[in-house]
Amino acid sequence: MTHSETLFEQAQKYIPGGVNSPVRAFRGVGGTPIFFKHAQGAYLYDEDDKRYIDYIGSWGPMILGHGDQRIKDALHAQVDLGVGYGAPTAIETEMAKKVCELVPSIELVRMVNSGTEATMSTIRLARGYTGRDKIVKFEGCYHGHVDSLLVKAGSGALTLGVPNSPGIPASLAEHTITLTYNDIDSVRETFKTMGDQIAAIIVEPVAGNMNCIPPVPGFLEGLREVCDEHGTVLIFDEVMTGFRVSLGGAQGLYGVTPDLTALGKVIGGGLPVGAFGGKRSIMEHIAPLGPVYQAGTLSGNPLAMCAGLTTLNAISEPGFHDRLTEKTNAVAQGLKEAADATGIPLTVQGAGAMFGFFFTEEPSVTRFDQVMACDIERFKKFFQGMLKEGVYLAPSAFEAGFTTAALSDDDIAHTIAAAKNVMATL
Ligand code: PLP
Repeated sequence: MTHSETLFEQAQKYIPGGVNSPVRAFRGVGGTPIFFKHAQGAYLYDEDDKRYIDYIGSWGPMILGHGDQRIKDALHAQVDLGVGYGAPTAIETEMAKKVCELVPSIELVRMVNSGTEATMSTIRLARGYTGRDKIVKFEGCYHGHVDSLLVKAGSGALTLGVPNSPGIPASLAEHTITLTYNDIDSVRETFKTMGDQIAAIIVEPVAGNMNCIPPVPGFLEGLREVCDEHGTVLIFDEVMTGFRVSLGGAQGLYGVTPDLTALGKVIGGGLPVGAFGGKRSIMEHIAPLGPVYQAGTLSGNPLAMCAGLTTLNAISEPGFHDRLTEKTNAVAQGLKEAADATGIPLTVQGAGAMFGFFFTEEPSVTRFDQVMACDIERFKKFFQGMLKEGVYLAPSAFEAGFTTAALSDDDIAHTIAAAKNVMATL
C-alpha cells in the first residue's frame, strides 16, 4: 500500500468520502487520490516522495507557482502583526483599489471568502436591485454550490429548472432558467416571453467547468445586448478566468463589459478569498449603503489580503500573461501533436492560461452535449498514465487545465514526451 492509500483509508473514517471537496476523491478517474505533503514551483510532492508537474495549481489560485517567495514573505510579516481583527485595515483598501484598477467595470468591490460566496452575493444583489426573481444560467457552467445555481434544465427549453441536488427546494429552482452555452438565439427567445421577470444572466465568460470552452464570437456581445434591452443585470463569473485569461480577465480579453463580476481563486493567491463588484449604482444597494444584506466574519482577512495583493502585484508585471499564454499554448499544442503522432483523435482549446483537451473527432467543442459525447474512458486511461509519468492533470474530464509561471520549457517537454508514451498505450 502507498502512503496515499493508507491516508485515504484513515480519512474516510472521519471525512465524508475522505475529502473536503468531491472532485478530489478521484471518482471521475478511478483509483484513490494522491495525498500531497509539499509543493514548490511547478511541482507537487506526494506522501511517497514522488514528484508531479502540477497542471491544477490548487484549482487555479497558484498562478505564480507554489511557494513563491514574495507571498511567503508577505504572509510571515502579517502573521507577526496579527492574523485578523474583524475591523477595517488599510490593506483592504489597497486590495480594492488594485482590483478596480485591473478590472475597470468594477467601481466598488466587496471581499468574501470563496467563489461560491461571490456568485451567491451577485445573485442576491441582482434580485434585490431589479426586484425580479428569475435568473438565467447555462448548461455545463458551474458557479459554486449556491442553491439557485445548482439547477439543471427541465425538459424543454423554456420549462422550469429542476434541482441538481437533493436539499434544494423545487420552489427555488423554478426561478432558474438553464439555457445552452454559446447559443444566443435561445437567450433571445427566452427573453421575448419573460425578459421583464429576469433579474440576471450569470455566465462563465470562458466555460471552465465542462473542460474548457471559449465563447463563440457574438455570444458574450449578444448577452450584453439582451441585458441592456430588458434591464437585466449581466454577471460574469470570473472566479476561474479572472486575472488568468488576461490581466483584466475574460472581460479584458473579449472586450465585453458586465454589470457585476464574481472573482475568486487567483485573487486570494492560495488563501480562501472571493470578491464581487461592479457598477457603483448597483453595488450601492449592498449593506450598509443599501438594503441588500451581505456580511462575513473573516471577509477581508489581512492574511488573505496579503497573499492576494502580492499575487495581483506580481502578475501585473508587463508581459506576464503573454509569457503564460505562450506556455499554455505550447502545452496544448504538444498534447495535440502527441495525439496526432499516435492517431488518437484529440481537440485542444484554450484561453490565456487555461486549456482543455477533448478525446473527440469534433474539430471544436462549443456546447455541453458535445462535451458529454467525448470518450471519457479514454480520458481516464490517459489521466492514470500521465499520473504514473509524474504529470498531475485535473482528475476529471470536465475540468480545465491551468498553467503557472513556474512551469519551465523542460517541464513542458517532459509533459509532451509523457503524453506521447501514454497516447501510444490508449
Ligand atoms: N465559479 C466558478 C467559475 C468556479 O470554477 C468555481 C469553483 O471552481 C466557483 C465559482 C466556486 O468557487 P469556490 O470553490 O471558491 O467556492
